[in-house]
Parts: sequence; C-alpha cells; structure tokens
Amino acid sequence: MKILIVEDERRVGQFIERALSEQSYSARLVPTCAQAKDALAESPYDAIILDLGLPDGDGLELLRQWRTSGFNEPVLILSARDAVEDRIRGLNLGADDYLPKPFSIDELLARVRSLVRRHGGSKQTVLTHGTVRLDLLARSATCAGAPVELTSRELALLELFLQNAGRVLTRTLIAEKVWEASYDLETNLIDVYVRRLRQKFEAHGGGLAIKTVRGVGYQLT
Ligand code: CA
Repeated sequence: MKILIVEDERRVGQFIERALSEQSYSARLVPTCAQAKDALAESPYDAIILDLGLPDGDGLELLRQWRTSGFNEPVLILSARDAVEDRIRGLNLGADDYLPKPFSIDELLARVRSLVRRHGGSKQTVLTHGTVRLDLLARSATCAGAPVELTSRELALLELFLQNAGRVLTRTLIAEKVWEASYDLETNLIDVYVRRLRQKFEAHGGGLAIKTVRGVGYQLT
C-alpha cells in the first residue's frame, strides 16, 4: 500500500510518514502542490493524505484537478481549517474523508485503514502462493496456516515476490520497489533480506521457493 502525504509542515508530515511506515505502509512525503503532482505522475498511489494550506496553492484545487483527471483512489483531507464550508467543499470535490487538525495519530491511522478497506473493493487484499498467504490489510503472513513474523521490509519484499510469481526480479527493481532507492543499495543487502525471508519460511516447513538467478536477481517459482 503506497500512500502519498502532501503536507508542508515538516514536523507533522514526518510524524505521519513515520507512523504509516511503522504500520508497514509505504509512505512518501511531499511539501508542495507541484511536488504532489510530480509524485502522482511518477507512480501510482493507493491513497493520499492531503493538507489544504500549501505554500504554492490550495489542496482543494489539487484535489479538483486529480478528480477531473480521473484519479480515483481515496483522499483524506487533513486541515487546520475546520469550517463547515471547507469540509463540505472538500467532500463535494471528491475527498473521501476529512480530519481536522490537531488530530491523534491513532485516529488518522484508523481513518486510513478504513478508507483503504472501503476502497479496496475488487482489489486483491490477500496474496497467496502455495501454502504462503499474505494479508495486505492486516500486514500479516502465514505459512500453512501458521503465522510467520516478518518485519515491514520483509513484508514488502514478500508482497513484491507474490505479485510477480514466476517473473525474474532484478536487483534494481527490488531496490526500487522495496527500498524506494534508485541508487545501488549496499551490494548484499537484498541478498541478506532474501535469505532471511527464505529462512523464516523454511522454519515453517518451506513453501517459499525463491530461486537465485545468478547475476540478475531472484525469482519466486
Ligand atoms: Ca499547511
């Protein structure tokens, strides 16, 4: 689950970013309308948390443009403006929810979860491969019914493999998707994570056959 946070108050933005990351969401923080547009043009997001007062424009205008251009994922407005008119305008423009500042982080997380769940609809929220099962909403994995404890990075890696079963995934792609790094990761970091993932599933009777494709990357077979 990728979430875009558009918030110019650095401290607030980072706080949300950290909280979402701890819940195993992949979060990206941008402080301006311009950067939000770029981010959305670059890659898809599953939800957006949108502040209204931004240094280079109004979040509501951004929302209007997104909805006009066909962006359908849920948008949660976060704003110090708690005027009823703003709230109504936001919802009329296609926001899915409105949370006034100051907010509690637990409340924000609950709203995000509910938005993603409501919006999930036909979207796949459970990925399976043989006896391996990954619940994307609960962020939990099982092997033959037994829970497998994974870190958020391991969960993201598992999600990538399950979504691309049979495909050879290059190291570059894995680095981009799981670490959001376009630069070369410390050379053996991916290997370390893959090995750990294999070991955790082996401890539960196997089920996750990740093949090393020499010189290229990995493949879930
Ligand atoms: Ca602001």
